[in-house]
Amino acid sequence: MNNCIFCKIIKNEIATNKVYEDDDILAFNDINPKAPLHILIIPKKHIPSLEYAKKEDIEVLGKMQIVAKEIAIKNGVIKDGVRLVLNCNKGAGQEVFHIHYHLLGGRTFTWPPG
Ligand code: AMP
Ligand code: ZN
Repeated sequence: MNNCIFCKIIKNEIATNKVYEDDDILAFNDINPKAPLHILIIPKKHIPSLEYAKKEDIEVLGKMQIVAKEIAIKNGVIKDGVRLVLNCNKGAGQEVFHIHYHLLGGRTFTWPPG
């Protein structure tokens, strides 16, 4: 947990461009955007991946989706389509082991993802 880059962002030890914050959740711009809008939404609680999410995390995980929706509306991209992505573990492309949603918008997306 001490070496977790997202925990360091939460503690303001690493600077980032925050777009939303409350007691439980933080959202900030992805440093390597894959779409015109690319926001990461994370819980302040350190949960390494979806594999480790517990029933007690249901509320914060649900809140993260509503925060994503609000950010998408605010940026005017929800009607054209957005994608909310959660990569769980290495085989799915997870690189940072602090659970997070990617909110992607501002372009069209193909299905299935790679
Ligand atoms: P994932 O591959 O699902 O674990 O996604 C991790 C994401 O974190 C990638 O899209 C990275 O570009 C992003 N990222 C890593 N370090 C930072 C940082 N310091 N600030 C913002 N985004 C970051
Ligand atoms: Zn963490």
